[in-house]
This record gives sequence, C-alpha cells and structure tokens, in this order.
Amino acid sequence: MKAILQKLIFTAFSLIGSLLSAQDANNTPVAELISPMYRTRIDVPAIPGYVTLKCDFHLHTVFSDGIVWPQIRVQEAWMDGLDVIAITDHIRKDPSKEYLPGDNNQSYAFARSRSQEWDMVVIKAGEITKKMPPGHFNALFVQDVDSLNQEDPMAALAAAARQGAFIQWNHPGWKSQQPDTTRWWPEHEKIYEKGWMHGIEVFNFIEWYPIALDWCLEKNLAVMCNSDLHGATSMHYDLEKWPRPMTLVFSRDRSEAAIREALFAGRTVAWFGSHLAGKKEYLAALFRAAIRIMPAHYTDDKGNRFHHLINEYDLPWKIKEKSAAFKGEVWLPRAGSAVIKVNSAVEKMTFTVSNAHTAGKDVLQVQWPW
Ligand SMILES: [Zn+2]
Ligand SMILES: [Zn+2]
Repeated sequence: MKAILQKLIFTAFSLIGSLLSAQDANNTPVAELISPMYRTRIDVPAIPGYVTLKCDFHLHTVFSDGIVWPQIRVQEAWMDGLDVIAITDHIRKDPSKEYLPGDNNQSYAFARSRSQEWDMVVIKAGEITKKMPPGHFNALFVQDVDSLNQEDPMAALAAAARQGAFIQWNHPGWKSQQPDTTRWWPEHEKIYEKGWMHGIEVFNFIEWYPIALDWCLEKNLAVMCNSDLHGATSMHYDLEKWPRPMTLVFSRDRSEAAIREALFAGRTVAWFGSHLAGKKEYLAALFRAAIRIMPAHYTDDKGNRFHHLINEYDLPWKIKEKSAAFKGEVWLPRAGSAVIKVNSAVEKMTFTVSNAHTAGKDVLQVQWPW
C-alpha cells in the first residue's frame, strides 16, 4: 500500500514536473490573453457595374486633436471591416503640434506605412478648420496637405481645388457652429458656385442632418457619412450592435483613382446605425441586390401566397408593402429573413423602405418584381 502511494506521489510529481518543463521559467506567454486580431466581416452587396467600398473619410489622430496614432486608425478600420479611410487632421495650431515633428503631411505618411500590408486604402487629406461661416471642410486626394494651411478659408479651399481635391462640407448641423438652424450661408453659395464643394456630410459622429441630404440632392453633391473620430472606435461606438458609420462608395475598382472618380460622380450611400440615406437610384440598387424573394412555399385555402423574404447581406431594411395583401412593417435586420403573405391577385408589390432616406422627409419605394 505504502509503495503504491509512493508511486502515485512520484507520478503526480513527475506530471507536474513535465507540465512545468513545457513552460519557460524566463518567459512564458499566456496564450488566452492574445487578441486574435480578426477583421469583422461586413457584407454589403455590389451593384451592377461597381464594387461597393466601405469608407470613412473623416478621422483625426494625435497630429491634430485626436488621441490615437495614425497607424491605429488603419488597424482599427481594418478590424472594423472598412476598405478605405482618410486621415483628416485639422489644419490649425493644435497643442499636440508643439510636441510633434513633421508638418501636416506627417499623419498620412505614418498611416500609409501601415496600410499596404493590411490591404487598406488611405487617402491623403486634411480638414480646413474655420469658424462659421463657412465652417469645416475636408479636402481629400491632395498632394500637399500643408498647402491648405491658409488663414483665409477661400484661399485654403482654392489651394485644395488647385490640387484636384474632392471637397466635402463637414458636419453642417454641428450645434457648436449652427446652434439653432442648420443654415446654408451666402459663403456656401459662393463656394458651391466656384465648384469647390463636391459633397456634404449628412451624418457626422452620431448626428444625422436630414436637411443636408436635401441640399445634396438639389445641388447634385455626394452624400457623405463619416465618424470624425478623435478617440478609438470602441470608445465611441457599440460595435456589437452596429458597424461604425460609413460612406458606401460604388467604385469601378479599389484604386484611389476609381474612388475619386466615384466620389465626384456622387455614387455614394450613407449608412449609420439602422439608417441608410442617399440618392434613390443607389438605394434601390442596394435593396434589389440585397433582398431575395423566394417562390411561394405555401398557399392557404383563401389563396394567399406565403414567401420567404431574405436579407442576404448586413444592411438593415425596414419594409412595408402598400397593397392590402401585405400589411404592417417587416424589420429585416442584418442577414435576417421574414415571411410575407401576399394575396394571389397581387402580381406587383411596392415596398416602402422606411429606414432608407431618399430625401430629408422621404423614403425609398421599390417595385417587385424588379
Ligand atoms: Zn470639424
Ligand atoms: Zn473633424
């Protein structure tokens, strides 16, 4: 008995010994703490003729008043499922600039150094930061960000325009600059008439400006939707619930030249939380590409057909059908499906998509069959 006990004790000790020997007494990494560093997959359909790119054209770093480095912007955007970002540090004297070397081109240089291995596109850009009017403007696709460093807003915008920049009016309804009413000032008219305004943010950070969507439609400008983040994404957004806000760009390919062409042509849709906003034709194209209506799986004794309505992608849709056959609203979340009841007499359905804004006060209508 004693011998058996001794043997057991010996075995137990040698087992512990062999476990310990698998570890390095000097340095043993604890595997479960290591991040898998995965990219969240966000599936958005392509539309005929174009790929759909997920973009954020408004981000800050420590090179203005942000609190993260440019390389982190690239890494987190990749993890958040985006394809394209622009680092748009303020062109002004931010306190951090006292301590950091380099000019206004430096943040792009750092971001670019990180972007290639992660297959991210980084657009060279800056934020022309002036009091209202005219407020803040992002100049995208510039060659020299430092050239935007001009006291006079018009001189700064002219410098951007000379470089062929795509110029976006940022956060037009930001309360710090437009406390009561979101106004289109005479200064904006002048900038627009000079051909120096090519897009407007209808959404910025957590704010949606329906009136700005109407301006985009009236003046044929690109509908833009950006985060304007200063901290890390996880500090500001609940990414478990919704992807971070983004501008969807319908581009011929992933090259910078193609993205620039798509923006100037206004081929964009804004996606923020449960909302989409943009020009009718692009929202309708997205809806048709995302939704599949299956052949009827059942017909009841009153002749009502039942169809599966499948959302094959991650875009959310809230739909109603006008005909008497299909009452009520159906919420089709990311990759969700619903069953719809259609009277046999109904051959055509018109879906009202109440979360897809085609104007400040209007929503998308799509006919089926399409
Ligand atoms: Zn701003
Ligand atoms: Zn900003």
